[in-house]
Amino acid sequence: MRKETKCIHAGYKSGNGEPLALPIYQSTTYTYDSTEHIGKLFDLAAEGHMYSRISNPTVAFVEKKIAELDGGAGALCTTSGQAASFLALFNIMSSGDHFITSSAIYGGTVNLFAVTMRKLGIECSFVDPDSPEEEIERFFRPNTKAVFGETIANPAMSVLDIEKFARIAHKHGVPLVIDNTFPTAILCRPIEHGADIVVYSTTKYMDGHAVQIGGCIVDSGNFDWANGNFPEFTSPDSSYHGLVYTEAFGKTAYIAKARVQLVRDLGVYPSATAAFYLDLGLQTLHLRMERHSENALKVAEFLEQSDKVESVNYPSLKNNKYHSLAKKYLPDGCAGVVSFTVKGGREAAIKVMDALQLCKNVVHVATVHSCVLHPASETHRQLTDEQLIGAGISPGLIRLSVGIENTEDIIDDLRRGFSKI
Ligand SMILES: *Cc1c(COP(=O)(O)O)cnc(C)c1O
Repeated sequence: MRKETKCIHAGYKSGNGEPLALPIYQSTTYTYDSTEHIGKLFDLAAEGHMYSRISNPTVAFVEKKIAELDGGAGALCTTSGQAASFLALFNIMSSGDHFITSSAIYGGTVNLFAVTMRKLGIECSFVDPDSPEEEIERFFRPNTKAVFGETIANPAMSVLDIEKFARIAHKHGVPLVIDNTFPTAILCRPIEHGADIVVYSTTKYMDGHAVQIGGCIVDSGNFDWANGNFPEFTSPDSSYHGLVYTEAFGKTAYIAKARVQLVRDLGVYPSATAAFYLDLGLQTLHLRMERHSENALKVAEFLEQSDKVESVNYPSLKNNKYHSLAKKYLPDGCAGVVSFTVKGGREAAIKVMDALQLCKNVVHVATVHSCVLHPASETHRQLTDEQLIGAGISPGLIRLSVGIENTEDIIDDLRRGFSKI
């Protein structure tokens, strides 16, 4: 199946006389005929759902669809994108370990990495993703366990050279984890460029209608966890009678471990209803990504011409710094988010934002509705000025998430905003 067909048909397949739409199995648990069978489930020696903190049939169908869209060996849904990013890394690290991340990443992820994970004894180094390979390699330590980056950074809109990052990670025997939230698998499949693990905030385009927070981790199945750097995968897990993940699960060792250890213990698995909403979004994802990209380019071209605008960041624009990377990694478009800096800095940005009517001032992005956000006073207010610059954000920067309305209406609204400055 091609990606458009997978959006509709991957995962759940209805049998004779069964519902066409994905059924919502809203149940906490599952019945079995024998104690012996349930015992086997506890030992991970039999397949089947046991308790909805670990797996659920509706969620499992959506996981299968997402894994197929990305070309992965398996996927695990979580209650949020934050949970997905945390689990993706915590699954391969413990206290005393270190990882390297691109500095051009989502503000919530910066905080997770620099504050919360540090409290757990896991340190990270932020690197400028555009630096040469040798410079990034200097950040490796003997205890470095992963490299992390975002395909299109939210909100900096820089494009990551995924193949460069994959080369660096693999040279040091560690996996590359990519947050692919903005492009989704429709516009970019990081596994095809060497990424080992892909994470999503499904809250954004995959849901696409601003109805449900969620996340997902996709496992490429390609990384060799038995290379000596990840003893947790090759030594017995006492909570499952000495099970060894690489032996029991082979290609899907990573995603199986994330589920049966971390999701089990931390309780971050979505409900069947949440997965049903996500699946509705996924069915139209290919159409929406195409339209979001088309609309965003038109709006970006308008902004580029406006005398109220200092700079526009949208990788599809010809004179954008990331245009050649975008052509390579995002040949079908760069999704709907455009960031731009208005003349007059922080105050002017706030004036424009407050005058907009169609574009909603909300803490959200990547939905069918056009919406705006001022990172310096909203999502990224916890960052220092230095961190703001590192993440590619100036005080006058507005992040505009272009929806799928008529672009003329969106542009009229921006004109209304600009008339106030
Ligand atoms: C929103 C976002 C997240 C966090 O996802 P939530 O679903 O809000 O927890 C992570 N990465 C990126 C790129 C995001 O845009």
